[in-house]
Amino acid sequence: MHKLRVLWYLLVDALRRPLRTRADVEAWQKRRLRRFARRVLAKSAYYRPYVRGGEVDLSTVPVMTKDLYVEHFTSINTAGIDRDQAMQVALSAETSRDFSTSLKGMTVGLSTGTSGKRSLFVVSPRDRAQWAAHVVRRILLPHLRVPMRIAFFLRANSGLYESVRSMLFRFTYFDLTRPFAELLADAEKLQPQVLAAPPSILGRLIHEQRNGAVHLRPTVVVSFAEVLHDDIRHAIVDTYGVEPVNIYQCTEGFIGMTCAHGTMHLQEDVMHIEPEWVDSTHFRPVVTDFTRDAVPIVRYRMTDVLEVRATPCPCGSPMIAVERIVGRDDDVLLFRNERGEDVAVFPDVLSRMIARCTDDYTSYRIRQTSWTQVVLQVHCPEAVRHDVERAMSQAIIETCRTQGINSIAVTVEPYFDEPITVKDRRIQRLVHDSFHFPAQQ
Ligand SMILES: [Zn+2]
Repeated sequence: MHKLRVLWYLLVDALRRPLRTRADVEAWQKRRLRRFARRVLAKSAYYRPYVRGGEVDLSTVPVMTKDLYVEHFTSINTAGIDRDQAMQVALSAETSRDFSTSLKGMTVGLSTGTSGKRSLFVVSPRDRAQWAAHVVRRILLPHLRVPMRIAFFLRANSGLYESVRSMLFRFTYFDLTRPFAELLADAEKLQPQVLAAPPSILGRLIHEQRNGAVHLRPTVVVSFAEVLHDDIRHAIVDTYGVEPVNIYQCTEGFIGMTCAHGTMHLQEDVMHIEPEWVDSTHFRPVVTDFTRDAVPIVRYRMTDVLEVRATPCPCGSPMIAVERIVGRDDDVLLFRNERGEDVAVFPDVLSRMIARCTDDYTSYRIRQTSWTQVVLQVHCPEAVRHDVERAMSQAIIETCRTQGINSIAVTVEPYFDEPITVKDRRIQRLVHDSFHFPAQQ
């Protein structure tokens, strides 16, 4: 039954007229929004009041945040699922690592996001089939060699990813709570053609490959769940000889992926995306996902900050092109310049500056602990430690100085391994919680 559903969506997808221009995209979204209002929003107690005459004017619907979503979960969802009960099911799945449990036929899971705050996701079989069709068509089909072996490194098995196994592919799920040495041995045995993992894990795999511990030769490398920084991206190209497909996906949906030119395009043929501008080039996406029916995602504000691409992508896609995902709000460091103004230092700017100064490290962590203090931890060979730490401290100070910030001090602390199950946050601001993006010219 499920396979038929996935095939159905693949067919629907394939027969659809391609969206070539901006006008195509907008016309398609308008039609989908009308259908979404009638078929999904009208069934949600929370959203029903906004549907008038079978239509919804999105601008009248309040912007959704994670806190509001969790608070109103019971009235938002259309499947009659109680939040507390769902939370309990998700929590026990997390403990037992048996993710086959479901509630009223829905897959229930816990999402921690990068903020570490707990949220819920509920996925219907229909949602799953659409998601699987999308992954298959966008990522796997262009590279299809049957049967395809796919290694998926995940922090929790949501059941969502399992669904693709039933197609022409053999999905193997690598649970990151298992010892890494075991995962390496299994990966070596599997020899996956598709290697999908968060970039911090790809970094570790590459490190092991350079040490001769594994010999993987994937033809497709997929990066997801964390920000893909340029150094890891270059290491992927150097080691595997392929440009990674970078997926921007989270609990709220499949939001973007890179095209053949390496440009991230927002998936506006699946969802409606409003940019909420924080300055002239950076925005937070506010997403409405037409493919979800169990728990509607409507004007959901992501906390990621994206930089829009200034020039059109050569691939000709009419979807919004993103230069880079600069990180979450709290990946953006915030200092004061000489004039006492707040100045944002974007994590990608900092990590590129560091990459220019040194590459003798395995990984590092930068934490802003006060208006003037930054803590640096570096994982690198002992022989070069002194030089690397000095180069990185200098790079941090230099990056700030170019933006008129002269008063910061960098403290070096010993690096410690975070459990692999923790989402990697390379750069993070630990202070000023009530952070408003400073205006920037
Ligand atoms: Zn493109």
